[in-house]
Amino acid sequence: MQKILKGIQHFQDHVFPANRELFERLSTGQQPEVLVIGCSDSRLALDLITQSSPGDMFVCRNAGNIVPPRHQAEATSAAIEFAVSGLKIRHIVICGHSDCGAMKGLLHPEKLANMPHVEDWLRHAEGARRALDELHAGASEHESLVALTKLNVLLQLQHLESHPHVFAQLHAGTLQLHGWVFQIETGTFEMWDGKANHWTRLAADPEVPSPAQWLAETAFNGSATSAPQLATV
Ligand SMILES: [Zn+2]
Repeated sequence: MQKILKGIQHFQDHVFPANRELFERLSTGQQPEVLVIGCSDSRLALDLITQSSPGDMFVCRNAGNIVPPRHQAEATSAAIEFAVSGLKIRHIVICGHSDCGAMKGLLHPEKLANMPHVEDWLRHAEGARRALDELHAGASEHESLVALTKLNVLLQLQHLESHPHVFAQLHAGTLQLHGWVFQIETGTFEMWDGKANHWTRLAADPEVPSPAQWLAETAFNGSATSAPQLATV
């Protein structure tokens, strides 16, 4: 906790004064283009790994980056509804990550015996677990976790379409959905390419496309592609 309190002090003494104009501009409203639904995991530092500034992303986080179908989780549904209908966001990203505790719980439900709320919440990812059993029977523990994390992102993208505002904007061509998985150990992303029907790994490696290349080849050109605007001190 001391580290966090010292961070607040540093922010107030140095970072805020250097970014006063940005915060003054944002003080009366926001116009983010992107809604990110990410896992609550402390290692998924969304502002850092996307180099985003305040005002760039509307964020909804929960264990397992889950989107329950409409009417089955009021808080998540309200965040989606407000982002799509109120803020008119243009992109929704479901962002999972490696070594996800929620996905481990989904793999081993017997370990959730004393966590009934987590067990209940993860029922919204049951389809991913069943798909894993069908598609990756006999896979190792690590392979299963990697595959389940990706299947869960795809399942939650489908759940998004059960939300009326999302469905309407998708079919009006004013909204796009994206599936990402962040690799903690390498700092890289894999992104779902719906047209090619596979995951594409993005990295600084010249052998694979950079995030900017990938984004240039798709319709996604939201704020995540812009240079970070927050002055650092
Ligand atoms: Zn997680």
